[in-house]
Amino acid sequence: MAHEDCIFCKIIAGDIPSAKVYEDDQVYAFLDISQVTKGHTLVIPKTHVKNIYETPSEVASELFARVPRIANAIKAAYKPVGMNLLNNNEAPADQSVFHIHIHLIPRYGEGDGYSSNWNVHTEDYTPEDLQTMAAEINSEIK
Ligand code: AMP
Ligand code: ZN
Repeated sequence: MAHEDCIFCKIIAGDIPSAKVYEDDQVYAFLDISQVTKGHTLVIPKTHVKNIYETPSEVASELFARVPRIANAIKAAYKPVGMNLLNNNEAPADQSVFHIHIHLIPRYGEGDGYSSNWNVHTEDYTPEDLQTMAAEINSEIK
């Protein structure tokens, strides 16, 4: 069901304009207005769900099932040298629109406008630490 204050629900409904890349009964894809790189696309489910934590597995399945076709279309159109998929959940993780979306960010080489910095902490954890952490997470799987 559409969420009345949601900008992406309004885009799906056609109440706010967008540059539509793809649409079917379950999914809508459109160009991100920020165009971090050329062809930067958002893929969203037509069902309003806030983020990954609230996404039923059927909605996730339908959403992600379209991603390879859309990624290949961007690849065919603009010949990027690579592509990053990104999904931000909650404001501290940079989610700014609270209707789940997957960013498809085609890459064109160094200095193309996208960067992801992450620090590697391989040395901070022993193999036993990793086994303990894996078990802790596994015990919470519902
Ligand atoms: P996030 O920060 O992961 O929640 O991503 C939200 C994205 O939505 C940002 O990259 C915005 O540029 C994009 N966005 C917000 N409003 C619009 C809009 N009206 N049309 C297209 N993209 C939008
Ligand atoms: Zn919505």
